[in-house]
Amino acid sequence: MQYISTRGGIEPVPFTEAVMMGLANDGGLLLPRTIPRIGSETYGEWKNLSYQELAFEIMSRFIDDIPESDLRALIDRSYASFDTEEIAPLVHQGSLHIMELFHGPTLAFKDIALQFLGNVFEYLLEKNDSVMNILGATSGDTGSAAIYGVRGKERINIFILHPHNRVSKVQEKQMTTVTDSNVFNIAIRGTFDDGQAIVKTIFNDLDFKEGQHLGAINSINWARVLAQVVYYVYACLHISRHENDKTANFSVPTGNFGDIFAGYIARRMLPEGTIRQLLLATNSNDILSRMVNDGDYSLGDVVATSSPSMDIQSASNFERYLYYLLDEDADRTNQAMNQFSETGKIDLTDFQDHIQRDFTAEKATEEDVTHTIAEFYKEHGYILDPHTAVGVYCALKHQKNGLPICCLATAHPAKFVDTVESATGTSIELPEAIATLMDKETRCELMDADKNQIKEFIKTHSKHT
Ligand SMILES: *Cc1c(COP(=O)(O)O)cnc(C)c1O
Repeated sequence: MQYISTRGGIEPVPFTEAVMMGLANDGGLLLPRTIPRIGSETYGEWKNLSYQELAFEIMSRFIDDIPESDLRALIDRSYASFDTEEIAPLVHQGSLHIMELFHGPTLAFKDIALQFLGNVFEYLLEKNDSVMNILGATSGDTGSAAIYGVRGKERINIFILHPHNRVSKVQEKQMTTVTDSNVFNIAIRGTFDDGQAIVKTIFNDLDFKEGQHLGAINSINWARVLAQVVYYVYACLHISRHENDKTANFSVPTGNFGDIFAGYIARRMLPEGTIRQLLLATNSNDILSRMVNDGDYSLGDVVATSSPSMDIQSASNFERYLYYLLDEDADRTNQAMNQFSETGKIDLTDFQDHIQRDFTAEKATEEDVTHTIAEFYKEHGYILDPHTAVGVYCALKHQKNGLPICCLATAHPAKFVDTVESATGTSIELPEAIATLMDKETRCELMDADKNQIKEFIKTHSKHT
């Protein structure tokens, strides 16, 4: 499989180069040249595969430059750190399926992609006798999941920017208590979008990028999207086995559009009708639900909510969908994205029918979230984290005729203990990974949201061959 850029400015590259490139060298995002189709027969044969076996079947259709046995080993190693054999178990609560994606080392769904990506990086660097300095911005969960994906790896240093005092205490501690010598936490005075903008600017400085062997781990990396495609298929298979239901609907708490975009890819791969609805659930930072419902893709101010990993306005994966929406026309994508960076908006009203065939969207206010956590606990004795609650609220609002919807549970509730305890009025038991955090030693740099200062820091602390 070859990968192209949404902006059309690079020669097609194979998977391993696409992973190493992160953001395409022309500023666009990488996509597979075609989306492989899975026939009903093959799909039927996948029914009883383990998570890891299924991951291999799916990933190998997008990767033809890693030998089969190596790819299997990478997948196995990546999911060995999970605390359940199922990796992504489904639990049934009332009329909903809850897919628990938080059984990895940092208790959030990002582990599913980042454990894999860390191992792929290590594998390729070893092969090429090279090193990498990973640079990323996080709104909370990506940071710790990325750090856990690469901590202690010999050929990798990692620099993670997080918005100072805008991530939860647990999220902050999960990052800053990793004191391995290859891990550098940077708290910036600003928002997640500021951090993300700095990272994008630094990556666009190609001399610096090459000189410092920079690599990305943000959700722009194609390998992350790919790893996430797997659990959509896993969920569909599970649902068809348990309820004989041939179609599945998903509700996806959305921030950077990476997770739901993986669902979009899964839908295009699978036999027609296997995935019916993709419900895009946002918190008060609702640029994406406005995009779906009104064709209005325009920046608002970022407001802080109880689901900080979704406090995002410019969703970095949106460009991938835009490319498909614009008939895979790189010139038009380029124009639209240039317009977006100049004016902060893209008018998509002409595409509304198309968009609404692909997605439904709903927004949950802070009140909706608290109420949902409380009610769900009362009714089912099951505790939702605030991100998952956004998805559950939206699912219940859009559920038609009681048809089951699969809600992606993106974080363990203990990561957001304050919100969850005050909503349910009960105290929750902390898993050991969290209970022990507060007493650990930490390491972190506080800096202004200034790209030059951050570049200097990277230069001083980067790994060299
Ligand atoms: C990152 C994250 C999201 C949003 O996922 P995107 O891929 O950015 O849309 C939702 N919930 C949690 C807990 C997250 O960490």
